[in-house]
Amino acid sequence: MAPPAPDTAPLFERVALIGIGLIGSSLARRMRRDGLAREIVCCAKSEQSRKVARALDIVDAAFAEPADAVKGADLVVLCTPLSAYKPIAAAIAPHLEPGAILSDVGSVKAMVVRELGPLVPKGVHFVPGHPVAGTEHSGPEAGFPELFEGRWCILTPPEGQHAAAVEKVAELWRRCGMNVEIMDAAHHDIVLALTSHLPHLIAYCIVGTATDVEDLTKSEVLKFAAGGFRDFTRIAASDPVMWRDVFLSNREAVLEMLGHFTEDLSALQRMVRLGQGDKLEEWFARTRAVRRGLIEAKQA
Ligand code: NAP
Repeated sequence: MAPPAPDTAPLFERVALIGIGLIGSSLARRMRRDGLAREIVCCAKSEQSRKVARALDIVDAAFAEPADAVKGADLVVLCTPLSAYKPIAAAIAPHLEPGAILSDVGSVKAMVVRELGPLVPKGVHFVPGHPVAGTEHSGPEAGFPELFEGRWCILTPPEGQHAAAVEKVAELWRRCGMNVEIMDAAHHDIVLALTSHLPHLIAYCIVGTATDVEDLTKSEVLKFAAGGFRDFTRIAASDPVMWRDVFLSNREAVLEMLGHFTEDLSALQRMVRLGQGDKLEEWFARTRAVRRGLIEAKQA
């Protein structure tokens, strides 16, 4: 028997994206391409970004004020840096439609649940989310509809949210090509501190260190970048505002993971100092297996 035809009906009537950078514009492109919303509107801080979003034809309208963008929307997704969330939530709260869903794409979740939860009006569903996909580029031109393909999206609805609203947001991300997992917000932050936030901090650190010792190495840092450094420079080119907000919003979990990391770094330092080749080799063999596991899970 032939498999059932994919469901092609729009999931939402009007989606308002507050922020139309890498993530917001990728979502807009995907929703546009696959007809996931009847109407897509956005809000951006600068006239330039609003102009680009209109010119790319990924939205039907672009507003300067978040409160204007959310009127009549059955789904509102915050896609701005985390530090803009609270003032935006306060501004849109009186204009959210009863029965609408408020969601987001922020890389930290406990802070979002804690700070936005009390601002969400009665009758509005609150389903925070984090599509774990990205690049080091920013802005409306940086997005592409396949960004989310094959990646994970983590939803962290506070207790007591309508199952149907959670399922509708989950279905949106599934139709964007993602696997969806529901998780407690605090647990999300610990997991992401280790898998995403700490690697970014290390990349920012090592590229900064290389710049600081540039006098010693002259331009050789750039010339011989292929020796591992190049991969760090890509990560360390990620948006400074977004990452500032991530570290300030997930301070405790990042410091906890940084503690583990510095202990391990000291252990490696000792192996190098004492010439313990067998221990180093054992360590590197273990980490190589992690990479192979990622490739097998198609997450590399
Ligand atoms: P981005 O490319 O820098 O885009 C941010 C957007 O937010 C821009 O359109 C910006 O407008 C708008 N904006 C900023 N402040 C605003 C305000 N007060 N009112 C209205 N609009 C405002 O950022 P992004 O990479 O898409 O990241 C957005 C969110 O996604 C962040 O919370 C981040 O944690 C999360 N995230 C990012 C990644 C990643 O790899 N980049 C991955 C997963 C999740 P202008 O362009 O006019 O300034």
